[in-house]
Amino acid sequence: MNAPVALVEPPCPICGGTTWTTVLRGARDWIWRKPGTFQVQRCAGCDLVATRPRPADDALGFYYDNAYSGEAEAGMRHFQTESGLGRLINRYRLAVLQRVRRLGGDDHVLDVGCSYGGFLRLVRRQTGARTSGLDLDAGSIAQAVDAAETEYRVGLLTEAGYAPGTFTVITFLESLEHHTDPVAALRAAREALAPGGHCLVEVPNFGGLWRRVFRTAWLPLLIPQHLYHFTPKTLAAAFRAAGFGPVQRHQTMFFPLEGVASLWIWLARVLRMPPVGSKPTWRTPFDVLLFLATLPLYLVFEIPSQALLRLLGLAGHQLAIARRDPD
Ligand SMILES: [Zn+2]
Repeated sequence: MNAPVALVEPPCPICGGTTWTTVLRGARDWIWRKPGTFQVQRCAGCDLVATRPRPADDALGFYYDNAYSGEAEAGMRHFQTESGLGRLINRYRLAVLQRVRRLGGDDHVLDVGCSYGGFLRLVRRQTGARTSGLDLDAGSIAQAVDAAETEYRVGLLTEAGYAPGTFTVITFLESLEHHTDPVAALRAAREALAPGGHCLVEVPNFGGLWRRVFRTAWLPLLIPQHLYHFTPKTLAAAFRAAGFGPVQRHQTMFFPLEGVASLWIWLARVLRMPPVGSKPTWRTPFDVLLFLATLPLYLVFEIPSQALLRLLGLAGHQLAIARRDPD
């Protein structure tokens, strides 16, 4: 638990509990290799899992600089808005949402943590719904797609100033786990929703199979940017704590990246590889090997295993939809 920034250990945002047991030790940022090791702990009161201690609110920026922003930005933007896999994932998300609520021109969709707005662009084009996007990162919003049609703001939902009842759907796609208080964020979402409106949350699934196998090398753990790690049970509890009705739909997601990427993180760690982009080292042959092995592994391992885990409800990402009940 050495980290170069100020750390805090807040109480559980769901039940207020202050007693925690350690699930994983020595978790660290294996993607961008920022310094600091952390523990992953489970709340004794409600089973919510959290990164503890975690960087203080004003220290979190240290772990985002040049990761979600800066030099890494072009690649991330391309993946989310232009790449085949990025587009496919957005289509999949929208298809699941439409099973609960068929969207049309009367709907107004807000995406919290919208990044470059790829999902919102798809929603607007496919359904005719009005679209709004919110993200803490001003750099992403400055480069967001669909800017003439989608209304973007920079900031937190709890401070964004949307009038109560503005939206019919609010989505958090891989963003709730980054919030310092996810229950406060969901409560603000409930406020900003019209009665009968829906909230969709997609987060990693801490109850998934590969999480148990790969442990701290599990790609979606993303320590310390991910502050909370939800299971289906604790995600439902977070909705309840924020005043939502029962979860109307829950499923794990076919998200074909988790297994192979976790395997490479594990391998790079075992072989003590320097960070991605380091040169000149024998990192380069390792990268070539990864490149050559990825396609076959993808076909024989990633896609079949993700399909099976999705059927068993044990895939590494989950999506849940709850409704703001009419007043
Ligand atoms: Zn708790």
